[in-house]
Amino acid sequence: MKKGTFEWTPSAERAFETLKKKLCEAPILALPNFDQPFEVECDASGVGVGAVLLQGGRPIAYFSEKLGGARMRYSTYDKEFYAVEGKSNVVADALSTRHCMITILDAKFLGFELLKELYHDDEDFGGLMKKCEEGVDGSFMVQEGFLFKGNKLCVPKCSHRRFLVKEAHQGGLAGHFGVAKTYDILREHFYWPKMFGDVKDVIAHCGAYHRANSQFRE
Ligand SMILES: [Zn+2]
Repeated sequence: MKKGTFEWTPSAERAFETLKKKLCEAPILALPNFDQPFEVECDASGVGVGAVLLQGGRPIAYFSEKLGGARMRYSTYDKEFYAVEGKSNVVADALSTRHCMITILDAKFLGFELLKELYHDDEDFGGLMKKCEEGVDGSFMVQEGFLFKGNKLCVPKCSHRRFLVKEAHQGGLAGHFGVAKTYDILREHFYWPKMFGDVKDVIAHCGAYHRANSQFRE
């Protein structure tokens, strides 16, 4: 960005909103690989800072912050510096795998917030949820109202499990993934008991096209 040439105008705001929308349309399982480096692209203006977190050239998350008080008086140059300086915090926050997952899933997944209400009465996670609200229980913890096992989101026993299995299974560019690959994709970011059985079940009901072709993709 060239110094002093950018203004946070209504059209810039609209452009930023469009960018956010595009990012939120990214595939549900396009989550970051924490073994790979991240890049941050920042932009600063009179009233705000925007940053995009990328990995392998692919946007993963976006941030914006309205500046107020003393920060408003910084020159544009200083604010760009602030954006870059601030990246350690912004990225550290984003690099909480858990936060990143919540952000992406919430944007993509209709009714995602409702999962939070299902934990308490869930036969798989109800007890754990209660314990975790009093603190961490083993590798289980609650973040932003969601239950996690390490960095994996616990999915209550509801139709969302099947939805996620389908997303993972149908994510192959060349066609549908087999059982082992689908399970690997899913268990990287999600956890629930008997997930493997659910994967087998969904794939078994996926239709002739998949059954005829699965042998070539495992
Ligand atoms: Zn299939």
